[in-house]
Amino acid sequence: MSATYSTSCKKDDLILVTGAGGFIGGALVRYFKDKGFTRIRAVDKKPLPEWYQEVEGVEALCMDLTSEANCIRAVEGAHEVYNLAADMGGMGFIERFRIMCLRSILINTNLIEAAYRAGVQRYFFSSSACAYNVKLQEDANCRALKETDAYPAYAERGYGWEKLVSEMFCQEYTAERGMKTAIARFHNVYGPWGTWDGGREKAPAAMCRKVIDAKEKGTGSIEIWGDGTQARSFMYIDDCLQGIDKIMHCDVLNATPINLGTSEMISINELVSVTEKIGGITLKRTYDLDAPKGVAGRNSDNTMIKEILGWEPSITIADGLKKTYQWIEQQYQDRKSGKRTVKDLA
Ligand code: NAD
Repeated sequence: MSATYSTSCKKDDLILVTGAGGFIGGALVRYFKDKGFTRIRAVDKKPLPEWYQEVEGVEALCMDLTSEANCIRAVEGAHEVYNLAADMGGMGFIERFRIMCLRSILINTNLIEAAYRAGVQRYFFSSSACAYNVKLQEDANCRALKETDAYPAYAERGYGWEKLVSEMFCQEYTAERGMKTAIARFHNVYGPWGTWDGGREKAPAAMCRKVIDAKEKGTGSIEIWGDGTQARSFMYIDDCLQGIDKIMHCDVLNATPINLGTSEMISINELVSVTEKIGGITLKRTYDLDAPKGVAGRNSDNTMIKEILGWEPSITIADGLKKTYQWIEQQYQDRKSGKRTVKDLA
């Protein structure tokens, strides 16, 4: 299959990014701003002072997008919509707050209808590897997940089902109403400006914080959730942003869910080792076997993305984690000295 690309919209067409007060949405706003787009609308339900990133020259609105009326207002005049808004977090969050995760269905449901009615040209939905059948992820050495592995459906309770049904909304808006939709299944995204403390953080940020904390306090030890053999692939934020842009503007991928992740699977124990190396310390490991740990193994099969886009995320965990560690270390010091940090806003 060969990809046909449409150039993204004109530099003065209006782009809407939802979830813009959070990690990926905030980074996407900056990405488009840096690319020279002059009309960007950023929406999040968090009050503006709590947004992770503040990008100058962007229309920033605080609105809860579970409301139909707010979705209608948010999409007004938009050429492209990127829906990154959801109530989410790491395993500790999505295993505990399933109702909150499921309620994000209201965001996509109202937003895609509003986008369709407003004549939006392209609509992007941020899905997740949690949409995949969990029965295929019961072994740490399981094979990587292909796009077809979401069905027969047995998604992660709560969060995964919300993603799967929202994907279907996108597919049906394309099938029945001819709207161009793009769907990426993200595999664990990490990087600077992500949540690193407070309960919603994911494994890479949590490991960086724990190593920094152990160094600061001289405890000499680190607590790991589960037995550390559970394995994942982790994608650095810059790869994620490029992938979103490429997937949104590839015409072959209309309403076609596609993996967006690296195929470099590592265990949590290995992730700890990489983090320790960056921090220049070796710690005694203790294991909390009762803590949430998710599926045993999950990796991204990148056959489809390579075939269609001739590209795949390629930033290694060693390179990406180094930049993330340095950023979290700065945040840690800022918090100590009473400055405003992302953690306080999570
Ligand atoms: P995040 O929590 O940092 O950002 C999500 C933002 O959505 C938050 O700022 C939140 O306030 C906002 N939001 C929640 N409910 C809202 C509502 N009703 N109205 C308006 N805004 C609302 O998360 P993230 O890591 O940036 O994730 C972005 C998207 O990518 C989400 O859809 C998430 O499910 C998906 N995803 C992320 C990862 C990852 O590893 N980070 C993996 C798979 C999928």
